[in-house]
Amino acid sequence: MAGTRSTLRTVGPGRKPAALLLAGALSLILADALGAQGFRTRMRFQMGSLTEITVPDGQYSAQSVSRAFDVVDRLDRLLSTYKADSEVSRLAALGKLRVSPETMEIAEASLRLARLTGGAFNPMLGPVIALWRQAEELGRLPSPEALEAARTLADFERVELDRAAGTIAFPVRGMGLNFGAIGKGFAVDKAAASLQRDGIRMALVTSGTSSHRLIGRPRDGACWELGIRHPGDAERAVTVLRLGPGGLATSAQSGRPREIGGRIYGHIVDPRTGRPAEPRSPVWSASVPAPTATDADALATALIVMEAADGMALVESLPRVEALLVRRNPDGSPRLVWSSGLTQQGTLDGLPLIVPVTEIGCMDGGASSGPAAAAGEQPLRAQPETQTGRPPPPALNRW
Ligand code: AMP
Ligand code: MG
Repeated sequence: MAGTRSTLRTVGPGRKPAALLLAGALSLILADALGAQGFRTRMRFQMGSLTEITVPDGQYSAQSVSRAFDVVDRLDRLLSTYKADSEVSRLAALGKLRVSPETMEIAEASLRLARLTGGAFNPMLGPVIALWRQAEELGRLPSPEALEAARTLADFERVELDRAAGTIAFPVRGMGLNFGAIGKGFAVDKAAASLQRDGIRMALVTSGTSSHRLIGRPRDGACWELGIRHPGDAERAVTVLRLGPGGLATSAQSGRPREIGGRIYGHIVDPRTGRPAEPRSPVWSASVPAPTATDADALATALIVMEAADGMALVESLPRVEALLVRRNPDGSPRLVWSSGLTQQGTLDGLPLIVPVTEIGCMDGGASSGPAAAAGEQPLRAQPETQTGRPPPPALNRW
């Protein structure tokens, strides 16, 4: 079947970080970090991007890796807005649908994260995103009226989830889900859980070079090292995150640029305006280590929409969540802003190494490893003020 073929890549010790050569990559796996043992990477084109699964030779099983890819294929079939027969498309057309458990699960996670981010991450932007997609095809900007009409449909508080009946319903025709900002994270979490069910204790699952789920460590006590792309040079990392098990996602407006009428627009929408967030947001990229890639993915997108200070306040209020914002100085040089759980330690090939020192951090280790953790993690919630001593983050004005 087209789009399901996978390729095999072997990463040997001592190689230069091959992944750094991937143009457009947002976060990059450093092959050097994989250590002395050999790893195999297999790739399959899924969800409009490349899924990459890297497993050490000693634990590699073609069957297990294929099974993990199949999990992502199934999610692609359920959740894609590009497929007319996906559950998400049929739900948008019918207004109510009995959905699969996976669709219910990602919808629930999305609503939780929409509330957590004050609507900066909004899974109900379906009609708005469809307008921008159409604008790209036509080479013409959407009319302000059409944009406003689509924007008012993006009210995530009005979605009706009935877990017992397994249905999702919209009260108004034209409303629609879009999991573009969370689906890759959800998919790598589910693929990782599948690998873990098969007994694989060490692996890295990546989608679209931007959503990662790390299982175990590349070797005892070591960290996964992921380069974060330099804003001015697609082949350079601006810094390296060293992480233990958990999720990591990076978002940037440059991640999927679209050209409309000779101008480039970013793909991340500010739900307050229905327009690309770029002019309002001076954050070039946002990288979020979190217990799961699902949470990391939604939060990374939200951090592009939010003002940097508000986004950081949100991150600081969440347990085991960190963030690295790459901003650009007026002269184009990068400026890194990191949350309080990140510290700078040493260098790797001249790059600063940023080590999260929270529970998800490499040195202290221990988040979300093991099949049970991967299968049913605790949902991320803001800590009450009494625990953090910080005020809750300011909510966005959504409407
Ligand atoms: P990401 O690359 O994870 O930041 O996700 C971006 C994708 O999510 C876009 O291509 C849209 O499909 C969708 N999207 C854009 N803006 C938002 C937003 N503010 N909240 C939720 N999804 C969004
Ligand atoms: Mg995202």
